Amino acid sequence: MTDTPITPDVTALPRLPKRADGKVNLVGLTRPRLREALIAAGTPEKQAKMRADQLWQWIYQRGEADFAAMTNLAKAYRATLAEHFVIERPEVVSKQVSADGTRKYLVRISGGHEVEVVYIPEEDRGTLCISSQVGCTLTCSFCHTGTQKLVRNLTAGEIVGQIMVARDDLDEWPNPGEGSDLRPRLLSNIVLMGMGEPLYNFENVRDAMKIAMDPEGISLSRRRITLSTSGVVPEIARTAQEIGCQLAVSFHATTDEVRDKLVPINRKWPIAALLDALRAYPKASNSERITFEYVMLKGVNDSDADARRLVQLIRGIPAKINLIPFNEWPGAPHERSDWERIESFADIIYKAGYASPIRTPRGEDIMAACGQLKSATERARKSRAQVEADAGL
Ligand code: SAH
Ligand code: SF4
Repeated sequence: MTDTPITPDVTALPRLPKRADGKVNLVGLTRPRLREALIAAGTPEKQAKMRADQLWQWIYQRGEADFAAMTNLAKAYRATLAEHFVIERPEVVSKQVSADGTRKYLVRISGGHEVEVVYIPEEDRGTLCISSQVGCTLTCSFCHTGTQKLVRNLTAGEIVGQIMVARDDLDEWPNPGEGSDLRPRLLSNIVLMGMGEPLYNFENVRDAMKIAMDPEGISLSRRRITLSTSGVVPEIARTAQEIGCQLAVSFHATTDEVRDKLVPINRKWPIAALLDALRAYPKASNSERITFEYVMLKGVNDSDADARRLVQLIRGIPAKINLIPFNEWPGAPHERSDWERIESFADIIYKAGYASPIRTPRGEDIMAACGQLKSATERARKSRAQVEADAGL
């Protein structure tokens, strides 16, 4: 498969991306494209819908990767499928488990690139943090991924494949005859908070999330999927219409002056424009509230005045403010705010009527916490000029 060029705008994939051996990976194809692929491989048009439904269930409900095991399909048809197609997830290169149970997977995708995926078990849920790009074109000053040269957008198959490898590892594909709702799900929530800016890879993210939400497959509710953006304003309305998941926004500052430095995309779409887009989101997506992520950086954005300004700014938007103590990484230009400072900040927000949970850092010992992800293979540091050009700033 050829690398998808990176532009802030959506890039269409070739209709059926082929591997080097000429076979097409079925993982990541939307239902209509799966049908199309089957027809192209000789399935009679009249049967294509039914065959696509059967395959869909094997792939996304059972986690099956071997056509030979698909016993409700005729043997000859299974052989034809195997001639044309594969069912392939990204390869898991390594898995690390933190003292707190957090699991970090390093997965390899085509071209030899690597991305990180993090599974965070909690008492009442299990959240998988997935990546949308190799690296990121943006350069938020507090984010380790932002120092990594962007290599490419992930395909829909590579995005949904991250969910599949985690389900493999958690042994969470139901056995034949067993409903998927019989036991609490180990992987119950998805957050698009790993490497990359999901709204700079809109169509692939959308297609992958549609697959994750499809009731005949992985079947996660759109209420259990949260997409985090640094503020790609023009794509926010589209996210509401075409995905309809929960939205989180990396807010991090209460004046344009500070946000310009921390989240450079702010120079293109400043706070007022971002807030306008956010105001429209809950209604357009029929979701409850927006999560404002706010990384606590000592002496930069953590004063009581900031907390009061934040409350003023978001007035009228149904919101929860997620305070994230800064997670350090080698060479980071910031420090984490003191605990009392974070509590004082949280208190002001809480008293103004908003939930203000402080996110407990998870998996810090294996560099799996928010903002610490960066794959070892792609250490090159990009120049600021290149980043700004890439991001259209
Ligand atoms: N690109 C998207 C999603 C990935 S980042 C975005 O920026 O929203 C997921 C979250 O982790 C964002 O809120 C990001 O600002 C935050 N984050 C990045 N680096 C961090 C760090 N070092 N410590 C704590 N949070 C960080
Ligand atoms: Fe990219 Fe998000 Fe990191 Fe900013 S915080 S550099 S947008 S991954």
